[in-house]
Amino acid sequence: MAIKIEKKIKGYNVVKPEDKAAPAPAPVPVKEAAPVAEVIQMHESLERPETLVGSTYKIKSPLFEHALYVTVNDIVLNAGTKHEMRRPFELFINSKNMDHFQWIVALTRILSAVFRKGGDVTFIVEELKAVFDPRGGYFKAGGVYMPSIVAEIGAVVEQHMKSIGLIHDPEMSDATRALIAEKRAAYEKAAKPAVPAAVPVGAGSAGDAPASQAAAEAAHMNASGFPAGATLCAKCNTQALVLMDGCQTCLNCGYSKCG
Ligand SMILES: [Zn+2]
Repeated sequence: MAIKIEKKIKGYNVVKPEDKAAPAPAPVPVKEAAPVAEVIQMHESLERPETLVGSTYKIKSPLFEHALYVTVNDIVLNAGTKHEMRRPFELFINSKNMDHFQWIVALTRILSAVFRKGGDVTFIVEELKAVFDPRGGYFKAGGVYMPSIVAEIGAVVEQHMKSIGLIHDPEMSDATRALIAEKRAAYEKAAKPAVPAAVPVGAGSAGDAPASQAAAEAAHMNASGFPAGATLCAKCNTQALVLMDGCQTCLNCGYSKCG
């Protein structure tokens, strides 16, 4: 029997011999017979819903005159079921600054396309974060080094993926945490003798001595709360690398050049 298809074809299935063998359930409307329990994964032919949820992040870089606003919109798959998940669907970047319009548009289109392809899209974070600006990067508040504006866009995508549960921070083990605390205490103890020498100047009453000592200690800390002389750790990009017993040691992530 010939059937004229009046509507646009949105999908099709090939009828296999075993499908024919199965006893056709009496005249049930096709819609009801469709499997309901199927878990939908991200794939490129998924249609964009009218409304998406998302977040906008502000990037202020000394390399740019104006701030960049990065918006990541997510699609919620299998809403209301135990398989509910949020996946990034598209990314937009807005700025007053039009100097970089060309590559920004290209980057947002490619990132959005990667998101829609599905699969593991978290690799994009490392790819972006590894981009170095040959003119040099910059430090963000908190002492984290950004090698380029593209790297910071990568950091924003990472932050977003963490917030929707796509990337999980590897939990620092208690042993590592204890080791870092121990190293930090040892470093501060070794650095202490230099502090009292600076304090006695103008220290009148015994009452303000602890306060001035605290101020002196604060002056020995950088923006991220690590010793002022700390250098950049290549592993966590934080100014927290100090020299201990002739060995570069990171007081943030525990990285040590001597293992
Ligand atoms: Zn580190």
